[in-house]
Amino acid sequence: MTKPQVLDQLNRPLRDLRISVTDKCNFRCSYCMPAEIFGPDFQFLKKDQLLSFEELERLTKIFVDSLGVQKIRITGGEPLMRKDLDHLITKINAIKGVEDIAMTTNGSLLPKYAKPLKEAGLKRVSISLDSLKDEVFGKINGRGVTVQTVLDGIDAAADAGLQVKINMVVKKGMNEDEIIPMAKFFREKGHILRFIEFMDVGNTNQWKLDDVYSKKQIIEDINSVMPLEAIAPNYTGEVATRFRYVGSHDEIGVISSVSDAFCSSCNRARLSAEGKLYTCLFATNGHDIRSPLRSNLSDEELTELLQNLWNGRKDRYSEERGSVTRDRSKVEMSHIGG
Ligand code: SAM
Ligand code: SF4
Ligand code: SF4
Repeated sequence: MTKPQVLDQLNRPLRDLRISVTDKCNFRCSYCMPAEIFGPDFQFLKKDQLLSFEELERLTKIFVDSLGVQKIRITGGEPLMRKDLDHLITKINAIKGVEDIAMTTNGSLLPKYAKPLKEAGLKRVSISLDSLKDEVFGKINGRGVTVQTVLDGIDAAADAGLQVKINMVVKKGMNEDEIIPMAKFFREKGHILRFIEFMDVGNTNQWKLDDVYSKKQIIEDINSVMPLEAIAPNYTGEVATRFRYVGSHDEIGVISSVSDAFCSSCNRARLSAEGKLYTCLFATNGHDIRSPLRSNLSDEELTELLQNLWNGRKDRYSEERGSVTRDRSKVEMSHIGG
């Protein structure tokens, strides 16, 4: 069966839907949810503001059947803080046409949940870890969580049979000296490590261009110790540029949203936990889908609404960065999940 295809204003199809299931998190990473801002009085979403699993199932089905989505990524906040998440995975896994279900997580709760998630149909996890030193990592995550906590999560995921990748945000002055130790460690462990340039998502993380440690610098650092060669993308629209250690099949990736934008092949939409659809990671506003969803619209009417939204999409923030768009307000990363 041919895939439905709806193109945006720049001729990009929609293939990848990222669903944030909660805006809460048990970490306070300095580049994402700084503890000074996301403090004890911070108002997170209440239960009735969150899309229910049934609502998410209905929406996902429409996205797959009528807009051409093939891949689902569950994210947050910390997605594993949403109760009974495996029930949602079961529902999504039962939708015909979903080819891949992945999750991005800080890994801390995986020892408890990896097995039921795998059994429910989850295929892959990207686990975030920015340093192998407790002192550095505890400071970054803002809660003093140890490296071992995340390593236990990584092992639990691999033991459960999930495909594992590791995400490391690199920020100048924070952890660039951890690039090589992390590369060696995860090469040895057999997991693909992906370096992510520090991005200007949201308005709370004090982003400065000077703090970005670029893809070029990351590759130069590793290459000087373990020579690398570029490899082709697995598919069109892959966000990471891939490299392999010369003479082996061991791989790394770099996600270079700042120094080398990839908007022209961006086929991703993001649904926040409260049901707003964002057509770009750096959008100011999302489109409210929850109200129409809760006002007895038919599937056909919802389909038309979503198709029109994607059809009108013009976003290419990373390609325009530095021009007029720079100072406008942007949605927080913990709201839509990266
Ligand atoms: N809590 C989960 C986690 O940390 O993996 C999922 C949500 S988190 C917002 C998704 C990804 O975004 C993580 O890999 C995180 O490191 C990354 N991220 C958050 N803020 C970022 C920033 N300012 N620049 C680059 N990556 C960022
Ligand atoms: Fe939480 Fe993930 Fe943001 Fe860190 S990056 S604060 S773990 S949502
Ligand atoms: Fe996609 Fe927006 Fe990122 Fe460009 S800036 S790759 S359009 S999410």
